[in-house]
Order: sequence, then C-alpha cells, then structure tokens
Amino acid sequence: MKTTELFQTKTTFSFEVFPPKRTDSIDTIYRTLDKLQGLRPDFISVTYGAGGSANCTATLEIASAIKHKYKIESVAHLPGIGLTKADVLSQLRRFETAGIENILALRGDIPSGSYFEGDFPHASDLISFIKEYADFNIIAACYPEAHTESENILSDIRHLKTKVDAGASQLITQLFFDNNYFYRFRERCSLAGIHVPIEAGIMPVINKKQIERMVTLCGVHLPKKFTAMMERYENNPEAMRDAGIAYAIDQIVDLNAQGVDGIHLYTMNNPYIAEKIYEAVHRLLAA
Ligand code: FAD
Repeated sequence: MKTTELFQTKTTFSFEVFPPKRTDSIDTIYRTLDKLQGLRPDFISVTYGAGGSANCTATLEIASAIKHKYKIESVAHLPGIGLTKADVLSQLRRFETAGIENILALRGDIPSGSYFEGDFPHASDLISFIKEYADFNIIAACYPEAHTESENILSDIRHLKTKVDAGASQLITQLFFDNNYFYRFRERCSLAGIHVPIEAGIMPVINKKQIERMVTLCGVHLPKKFTAMMERYENNPEAMRDAGIAYAIDQIVDLNAQGVDGIHLYTMNNPYIAEKIYEAVHRLLAA
C-alpha cells in the first residue's frame, strides 16, 4: 500500500526504527519489532546510513520483514549522497523485488570537513530520478526550523516545493520541541502551494546527552519549559525518561487538536517509550 492513501481517512501514527550497529546482531531489531507490532502503527520507516550498499541491505531486509512478516506497511529511507545513478537503479530494483512500495528519498548529510559526492546533489534530483524509473510512493523530509544549510526558512520552503513538484506526495518533519515552529511552517507551506500531507516528527527525550547531540546536528530550538525539565531531571534517568515521554505526549495532544495530518514517532528502537506514548494518544488520534 502507498502510505499517502492513509491520510485520506485518518490522522496517521507511524514509527521510525534504525538498523542495529554492525557490531550488534540483526536479531535485536526483530526483538524491538516483535513489541512494536502490537501497537499497530500505520507504517514503520527504516533509516539508512548514507553511503554504502551494505547499509541498503540492512534497511531492505528490515523494511521487507516489517511488510511481509509483521504485516505492517513499511517505508525504506534512501539517501542519495555518494551514490551514482547506477547504484540507485540497482537499489530500486532490490526494493521492487522485495515488494517495497514507499521510499523516503533524501540527499543525506555531507560529512563534516568533506564535500558532496554522487549523482544527486539535492533530494529533488533523486525524487525526479525515482519517479522516472518506477511507480514508488515518494516521501520527502522537511524542516520546520529550516535545514541547517539553508539561507533562511523561505528559501528552504522554496526548495521543498521543488521536491513536491518533482513527485514527493507526503512529507515528514525533522524533530522539534516547540509546536509553534510547526504551525508557522505549515502555514508557509500552504501559502507556497505545498498541499501534501505533513507528518510531524516527534522525538521523546531520554537523556540530556541525546538532546545536546540533536541540537548540534539539527539546530532545533529548545523552549524554556523543555530546558527546565532537562535541568530538573538530568541526574535521575528514570524521571528524565518519564518527563520526556510526558513532554512528547503533550506535544502530540496539542498537534492533534490543531489538525495535524499525522505523527511520526522517532522510537529510537525503544519499545517501552513507543508503548507509553501509544497508550496515551492512540484513542485521541482516532477520535
Ligand atoms: P535536500 O532536500 O536536498 O536539502 C538539503 C539542503 O539543500 C537544504 O538546505 C535545502 O534548502 C537545499 N536545497 C534543496 N534543493 C536545492 C536546490 N535545488 N538548490 C539549492 N539548494 C537546495 N539521513 C540519512 O543519512 N539517512 C536517513 O535514513 C535519514 N532519514 C531522515 C528522515 C527524516 C524525516 C529527516 C527529516 C531527515 C533524515 N535524514 C537521514 C537526514 C537528511 O539526510 C539530512 O537532513 C540532509 O542534510 C538533508 O537531506 P534532504 O533530503 O532534506 O536534502
């Protein structure tokens, strides 16, 4: 099933997982999926560590299992950085053979101190290429607080429109902790003529280090009530985890009340967190 069809009837609730580190067994992700399966998300997306066909194999194997073994729709991420057109063609063939219908097409991060390599300088180039090749449903990433390389939010939204015009029929946002950025972004998208469903990406905080990394990587704004929460609980891991879950639930309740198209939960392969959030919000999202 093409995940874009889901938005016609409901507020979607989807998850993101990532393949285990190379030093860990692939079974660790299956133990996670055994638990996530019971929550019946609308779809599960699987990340892809940019730059290598070994990474594609793990993403493909997990996305295929989600679809065929767990009977949940899956989305395979595909960052084009470092890949040639021939590489992408071969990966698309493998996705097709595995019955994958949905691809999150990305540029990928340029490694620090390095420069761009590959045939796809922007995600829109990859989207056009995939669209020409086959009938995949294509999803793209978007950034309520602007991508870190952007001049400003307006130029970023202009480039986002190029991705949608190239064939992206659904968007998933970068994580954010202040819903007001999302609302302003959504309004600007609408004014720019972007009318595809936008899922809000929500990441529950589990520790201070994780957030410091995210802020450096994504440049997201931390509201005062969020930093107060981190300061209050930083030395108590369980309290921090519970507060992080409560904060994410609060964000989702507000987003749902304001008519969000869907919630994409960055599960960090942690079924406990996904379960707690599911329990709190699944009836609200279905209401
Ligand atoms: P683009 O859309 O190409 O944008 C990158 C920058 O270029 C932006 O500043 C944009 O404004 C600018 N730009 C875009 N088009 C043009 C143009 N035509 N001319 C000039 N400038 C332009 N990374 C991974 O490696 N693996 C993953 O699995 C993964 N999953 C992700 C999932 C989500 C939901 C999100 C939000 C991000 C994910 N990322 C992943 C990270 C992503 O690869 C990085 O954020 C990357 O730096 C940008 O990717 P993009 O597809 O948004 O790029």
